[in-house]
Amino acid sequence: MSGLRVTEVRTTILDVPIRRPHRFAGHAITSQAYLLVQLHTDAGVVGVGEGVSPGGPWWSGESIEGQKTIIDRYLAPTLVGMGELRLPLLGQRLERVAHGNEFAKAAVEMAAFDAVGRALGVPVHTLLGGAARAEIPVRWALSGHGHGDVVAEARQRLDTGHRALKLKLGALPPEEDLRRVELLIDKIGTGVDYLADPNGAWDFRTAVWALAELEAMGVRVVEQPIDRDDVAGMAALVERATTARIMADESVCRPVEALRAAHARSCDAVSVKAGKAGGLRPAMAVAAIATAAGMDCYGGTALETSVGTAAAAHLFASLPRLPLGCELVGPLLLADDIVTEPLRYADGALRLPPGPGLGVEVDPEKVARYARTAPR
Ligand code: MG
Repeated sequence: MSGLRVTEVRTTILDVPIRRPHRFAGHAITSQAYLLVQLHTDAGVVGVGEGVSPGGPWWSGESIEGQKTIIDRYLAPTLVGMGELRLPLLGQRLERVAHGNEFAKAAVEMAAFDAVGRALGVPVHTLLGGAARAEIPVRWALSGHGHGDVVAEARQRLDTGHRALKLKLGALPPEEDLRRVELLIDKIGTGVDYLADPNGAWDFRTAVWALAELEAMGVRVVEQPIDRDDVAGMAALVERATTARIMADESVCRPVEALRAAHARSCDAVSVKAGKAGGLRPAMAVAAIATAAGMDCYGGTALETSVGTAAAAHLFASLPRLPLGCELVGPLLLADDIVTEPLRYADGALRLPPGPGLGVEVDPEKVARYARTAPR
């Protein structure tokens, strides 16, 4: 019971530039769109949340514009009319109004957690059960083909303390992609923890071949090698893998998909993200199911600003085991941020922000600067 009532929900689309283009399997981005959610309450406390659609609707089906519409038109009136804000009941209340739309719901839930944490004077991780760790090791994510010198970037990031690298694949034919990986590992060395993520770009046969090649190169984790819906194919890859772990990203978003993956033994690890799960609470459920099934949890990202990254940090700090670390590189990849004091990184790890709620303050000047004014 929070004692808070929502009086108003404001949403603003922001376009924030990134430092260098970031290429996924099918898309490259030079700026990232966000939906800032500001949840006003009768106690005067304002909670902030963030919706994101990494690179556009190709990842989840949700666009940033669609998130704004679903919140403004459907979720906001429910929040304002529902009486006292009760975090455990929020998800089912929103589900009654709109099925799916997980990233939009997660943005609203994030703002609700921030508001309740601020009102009670406790950080969000306390609301999630408490922090198991004060900092989280961050795997640096290199862009896919065609954007800068990845070897130089990898070296520079390893020099600043990162100990693990993520390689985005899938933009090139598989043979060329794997050649890139081989060249990179040749130059950087095998003492680094490598993860390869083709975002489901490969067919099953290609994935069988690529898995063996990547294992021979020393890659330890292969993320979403094949289509998100091919559960049997993922399970067959888990059977064939010898040294690498098969990680599910797109194929395990919500708790029900984690349950299916557990039954099918279709992955060794799950990339946990609040956005794709529909919020922090369902993401905790995904992690609990994965852990119960003997799978490892990994802290995934959708390239959030310090707002969404702080929420993810509270979530990942609350998980009992996080053996593969996280990839919360959003604030490091952005050319600017939308908070007064960006999150702190040191020695390749993200520090859990102190203070109540999410522990970050939105900067109104930055919001005004990056607010989308014209349709695009
Ligand atoms: Mg991924």
